[in-house]
Amino acid sequence: MTAIMTAAQGDRLARELGGKLTEVAHSSPSQMNTDSDCSRKHFFNKRMGITTPTHPAAALGSRTHDVLDTRLATLKWPTDPALQREVEIGRGGFGYLPANIDTLAKSIESEMRLEISALPIIGRVDLLLESLRLIIDHKTTSSRRWAKTPTQLLKDAQAIVYSMWAKLVLGWAHPIRFQHVGYLTRGQPGGFCNEVQWRQEALLVAWDRIDAQVRRMHANTRGFDPGAVTPNWDSCGKYGGCPFTAQCAKVSRAGTSKTANTTRGGLDMLLEDTLLAGLGNKKKKDAQAEEEQFGKVAKLPPKGAVAPGSLPPATSPEGSMAEVLKDAAPAETAQAADPALLTQMSIPPAAPAPTEEETPDPGAVNPPDAPKTAKAAKKPRKAATRKPTGTLYIGCVPVGQKVVTLEEITEPLLAGIAEEKGKAHYLAVEFGKWKGPFSAALVSWLDANPLPKALVIMPHAPCASVAAEVLRPRFPNVVERLG
Ligand code: SF4
Repeated sequence: MTAIMTAAQGDRLARELGGKLTEVAHSSPSQMNTDSDCSRKHFFNKRMGITTPTHPAAALGSRTHDVLDTRLATLKWPTDPALQREVEIGRGGFGYLPANIDTLAKSIESEMRLEISALPIIGRVDLLLESLRLIIDHKTTSSRRWAKTPTQLLKDAQAIVYSMWAKLVLGWAHPIRFQHVGYLTRGQPGGFCNEVQWRQEALLVAWDRIDAQVRRMHANTRGFDPGAVTPNWDSCGKYGGCPFTAQCAKVSRAGTSKTANTTRGGLDMLLEDTLLAGLGNKKKKDAQAEEEQFGKVAKLPPKGAVAPGSLPPATSPEGSMAEVLKDAAPAETAQAADPALLTQMSIPPAAPAPTEEETPDPGAVNPPDAPKTAKAAKKPRKAATRKPTGTLYIGCVPVGQKVVTLEEITEPLLAGIAEEKGKAHYLAVEFGKWKGPFSAALVSWLDANPLPKALVIMPHAPCASVAAEVLRPRFPNVVERLG
């Protein structure tokens, strides 16, 4: 085992690598996303102080944010011709903000600071609507395909941290709502809105995961040796290629450390050589497209991979946040007794995009098992006697067609199972243990409801593989992405 690196050695190494050893005094949702992607990448950036150039998509997003802030504050779009593109993008998604946005009291670009973990967490909240207990984050993206679903928002650092801040610092009562309002940067202007609503217990369960991550980040960034921080080789090709590839290879080749928290070894070195030999070029190409569409949002690790960013169980010596705060809000006990987490997803019509004048209600889309009218409620029985139609899309999404996502059907089912099992939320347990009850619940749902015309299963959806097994034989058409 190599000796543990000292501060002086760490500083020397940081300078050799093009940075400067820096004290990491706080965390943020964006740092958490980088850490989830690759802890070593976060270390190079924040601890070793190695900066990276701003991506053009990020610069466009930043200017669009400024334009939106101006529109919200002054009720007028900027007239500067140099910002015409940004105004068009902003207009495209503006209709997905609450209908009466101009008359609501609002806070724009609020500073956020939360000091309940190993490091203070800071951030800037795009829009706060206290009367609706609603936190809004503007997201610019090239396609609505890259919008985070409500299920993904349940694990999203920003959604969790901002909501916890609203609860503890602003004193908001539950349910607290967090929305991504999207603005399309490519093609016709347009937008989307996805939302998660937090009840107390679900937020506390989610917070425990964030707390564990911040503790791990704190421990990592007290050290001086990037070689001692667990790498995630699966992330090297993402987003057009990791900007720290050269530094990472240098550190690994020098074998700076093989301390307890690293998984580096022969296999890792082989992978590095593969990376350096340029065999990761295809991955880089794919990732370039991915970054253009997805921005800097972290992606889930591939199935079966143990990414360094995957969150360990809460190990707080003081006990979990759920335990610490259980009595913090006695007035909310009645809500907390209902363990189901309310989530809702708004999939806007494919065309035309709503205008400011035709503002849709982001929360108005009914789940597929909640017909809007009594007449509609009778349809399932009729449909059950008809020859089934519909297409199941696995790992792909049809273009220009309204779809139902698996989560829209399964979230209420999983929430029901969680309730039966006495769990605060279905994300609190391993899905593997619920295969039987989940399959049975899904079969019952299928027996009672018509098949959606287009149902999409994405691999990251909870119980995706079990659901695919159950659904495949039910659909006359199955379109599956291979490879
Ligand atoms: S090259 Fe790969 S392992 Fe190294 S820091 Fe970047 S993403 Fe992490």
